[in-house]
Amino acid sequence: MAETTNAFEMAQRQFDHVAELLKLDPQVREILRWPLREFHFRIPVRMDDGTIKVFQGFRVQHNDARGPSKGGIRFHPAETIDTVRALATWMTWKCAVVDIPLGGGKGGVVVDPATLSTSEKERLARGWVQQMWKNIGPRQDVPAPDVGTTPQMMGWMMDEYSKLVGEYTPGVITGKPVGGGGSLGRTEATGFGVIYTVREAMKHLKMDPTQCLAAIQGFGNVAQYAAIGFTELLGGKVVCVSYWDREDRTPYTVSKADGIDPRFLMSITDQYGTIDKNKAREAGYAIEPADAWLSKEVDVLIPAALEGQINAESVHKISPRVKIIAEGANGPTTPEADEVIRQRGIFLIPDFLCNAGGVTVSYFESVQNDMNFYWPKEEVLSKLDQKMTAAFEAVLELAEKEKVYMRDAAYMVAINRVVKAMELRGWI
Ligand code: NAD
Repeated sequence: MAETTNAFEMAQRQFDHVAELLKLDPQVREILRWPLREFHFRIPVRMDDGTIKVFQGFRVQHNDARGPSKGGIRFHPAETIDTVRALATWMTWKCAVVDIPLGGGKGGVVVDPATLSTSEKERLARGWVQQMWKNIGPRQDVPAPDVGTTPQMMGWMMDEYSKLVGEYTPGVITGKPVGGGGSLGRTEATGFGVIYTVREAMKHLKMDPTQCLAAIQGFGNVAQYAAIGFTELLGGKVVCVSYWDREDRTPYTVSKADGIDPRFLMSITDQYGTIDKNKAREAGYAIEPADAWLSKEVDVLIPAALEGQINAESVHKISPRVKIIAEGANGPTTPEADEVIRQRGIFLIPDFLCNAGGVTVSYFESVQNDMNFYWPKEEVLSKLDQKMTAAFEAVLELAEKEKVYMRDAAYMVAINRVVKAMELRGWI
């Protein structure tokens, strides 16, 4: 079979495989293989030069049996409906695996936000809400930031929704700025969540984190806090990160054999995760080709950029030293590469478990919005750690009991919970 790089085909193949293991009823499979609802819309935006530009927007609600749909909005030039469908499907499994009472959704706009001015971004963010407001809401579907979108954009979107419905409604969207209805700890949540699961995997594999090296792909929100977490929470070393260089239109790996300083690199990185390579070079970092991160001799690989990055070809570059792959990104591994990883016995922490920290704190954010009472950061991060650790343990326990791969075990836990909710609601 040809290599699958279409994210939605990947999501469906992963689901089909586990549906088979679970001997799931064909009618139930038919419900879960496809999103329940999809919205395709055009967003006309007045540009600063007075012209009107029309952007393609999407929102997909995959399944809301367990609660309102939940999932980010991406602003990306290569966004497609299939990517949004895949990400919405993974959100259903993600919310179920960490056992938060939410379903799966995702949205997107085909745009490179770096080409827009601040006021154009604001008009596009508000335009997205003007198209979707009747079908989102704290009890319907709650968007959040993702690749290419920021807390500020969530603030504008919440404001637009509140104006349209006529009342302050912070719970319509999460990932808002702190002070504007956001939760402390949301910025760190996904990256730290990745590291909590890596810590638990290391305990299971009896690895000493202080003796471990990691290589990370990406240097955006997830990768930055995964790098800080790996060095500051676990005491390990990160030898490289990678990023997409917008100037040269190519990715690079930025490395330092004795360990990068994530906070220094963050100080020379823009809001889109692009590192200033000249400043990095001046500070003694090597600038290497795009996929150098993947072949580093490290104990832990953390893909935290985009989907489909570890594929049938690149998987063979992974060093024999690698013991753990922690999928910070959504769908970074194609099914073909996944099979190689499974056969090599590398311990995989699957995406929708590994990166569930973001949606978990998003959920905490909406709980705080409902109460209009906000928790200190320590409380948020300690509740996050408890949720991530419990989810990891439940998946590991099933993987050991059923002697299945971690990805399959995570799917089994999640699918069982969604099916149970559909049964309890009388859908099936
Ligand atoms: P981001 O936009 O903040 O950062 C993306 C990073 O990846 C940037 O540094 C960019 O330069 C880099 N990049 C892009 N293309 C690359 C390439 N070909 N090679 C190397 N680097 C490349 O995005 P993010 O929020 O950190 O999200 C990263 C991944 O994690 C995505 O798959 C996203 O869906 C997933 N995710 C994000 C969150 C969250 O809370 N932000 C939660 C769960 C999952």
